[in-house]
Amino acid sequence: MLPKFEYYSPTSLSEALDLLEKYGEDAKIIAGGTDLLVSMRDRILKPKCLIDIKKIPELRRIEYKEGVGLTIGAAVTFKDILEYPNLEKKYRVLWEAVKTIGDMILRNRATLVGNICNASPAADSAPALLILDARARIINKNDGVREVPLERFFIGVKKTILKPTEIVKEVFVPEPPANCYGKYVKVMRVQSEDLAVVGVAGLAYRDRGDLIIRLAYSSVAPTPIRVKEVEEVFKKKNMSLDEKIEEAVKISSEKVSPISDVRGSAEYRLNLVKVATRRLIKELVEVV
Ligand SMILES: Cc1cc2nc3c(=O)[nH]c(=O)nc-3n(C[C@H](O)[C@H](O)[C@H](O)COP(=O)(O)OP(=O)(O)OC[C@H]3O[C@@H](n4cnc5c(N)ncnc54)[C@H](O)[C@@H]3O)c2cc1C
Repeated sequence: MLPKFEYYSPTSLSEALDLLEKYGEDAKIIAGGTDLLVSMRDRILKPKCLIDIKKIPELRRIEYKEGVGLTIGAAVTFKDILEYPNLEKKYRVLWEAVKTIGDMILRNRATLVGNICNASPAADSAPALLILDARARIINKNDGVREVPLERFFIGVKKTILKPTEIVKEVFVPEPPANCYGKYVKVMRVQSEDLAVVGVAGLAYRDRGDLIIRLAYSSVAPTPIRVKEVEEVFKKKNMSLDEKIEEAVKISSEKVSPISDVRGSAEYRLNLVKVATRRLIKELVEVV
C-alpha cells in the first residue's frame, strides 16, 4: 500500500511550476514512477502531493538536429529513445546503455530524466551522458531555464543540485565528435535484468590524428563519475599505447570508491573496474 497523497496531472509546464511553488518540499514530480513509487511503498519518501508530468506536451519532445545535438524531454521514455531514428548510430553509447535498463515493460514507462533525477549511483544512462558532455536544462517559476553540465548535477547518493521548486525540463546531448565510437559495458550478477555491479561507458575518437578516450562509471562511487584524468594520459607523447592503457586502468581504479553490497564486494568491483576498463579501451582503440 502507498501512503496517501494528492495527485495532479497538469497539462502545461507553467501549471506544474505553479504547483511546485505552492507545495515546495511536500511535492514530488512523478514521471514513470518506477523509482518514486517503490520509495513511497517502502516509506522512504512520503510526499503529500504528486505532480505527474507525463501529460505536458513540450516534455514529450525528443529531437535530433544535425550538427547541434539531441534534446530529450522529461517525459520521454527509454522506449521512445530506443525507437528514435538513427540514434543507435549517432549516439551508440547512450543507446546501448538505455537498452540495458530493466525490461521492455519498464522501458515503456521509465524516463531518462527520471533516471538522472533519481541520482542512483547505478543509473545506467549517466555514464554515457557524462562522456557525451550532456547538460540538464532546469526550470523554475521565477528564473527561467538554467543549463547545468551533468558532471555538476550529481552531488551524492540520490542527491542532485535540484531545488524542491525546480523541474528538469530536458537533457541536451551535444553533437558527438566526428567518427567517434562508443560502448557501454554493464556487468551484472546475471545476464538478465539487474542493476549494474559495475558499469563503464567509453568514447573514442581521433582529433587531428591524436587518440582521445573518455571514460565514465556507474555503481562504483557515490555518484556516477567521469574520470577526466584518463583523458590527459592519452594526450601524452612519450608513452606507448600499452603503457597509456595501463596508466588509464590505474588512474580509474584509484578514482573510484566502490562499496560492498548485495551485488558484490568492494574488492570484486575494483577488480571489475580494472578488467572492464582495459578490455573496453582495447576494443575502442581497434575501431577508431
Ligand atoms: C524492476 C526495476 C528495474 C530497474 N532496472 C534499472 C536498470 O537496469 N538500470 C537503471 O539505471 N535503473 C533501473 N531501475 C530504476 C528506474 O527504472 C530508473 O531510474 C528510471 O529511469 C526512473 O525513471 P522514472 O521516469 O520512472 O522516474 P520516477 O520514478 O518518476 O522519478 C524518479 C525521481 O526523479 C524525480 N523526477 C523525475 N522526473 C523529474 C523531473 N523532470 N524533474 C525533477 N525531478 C524529477 C522524481 O521526483 C523522483 O524523485 C529499475 C527499476 C525497477 C523498478
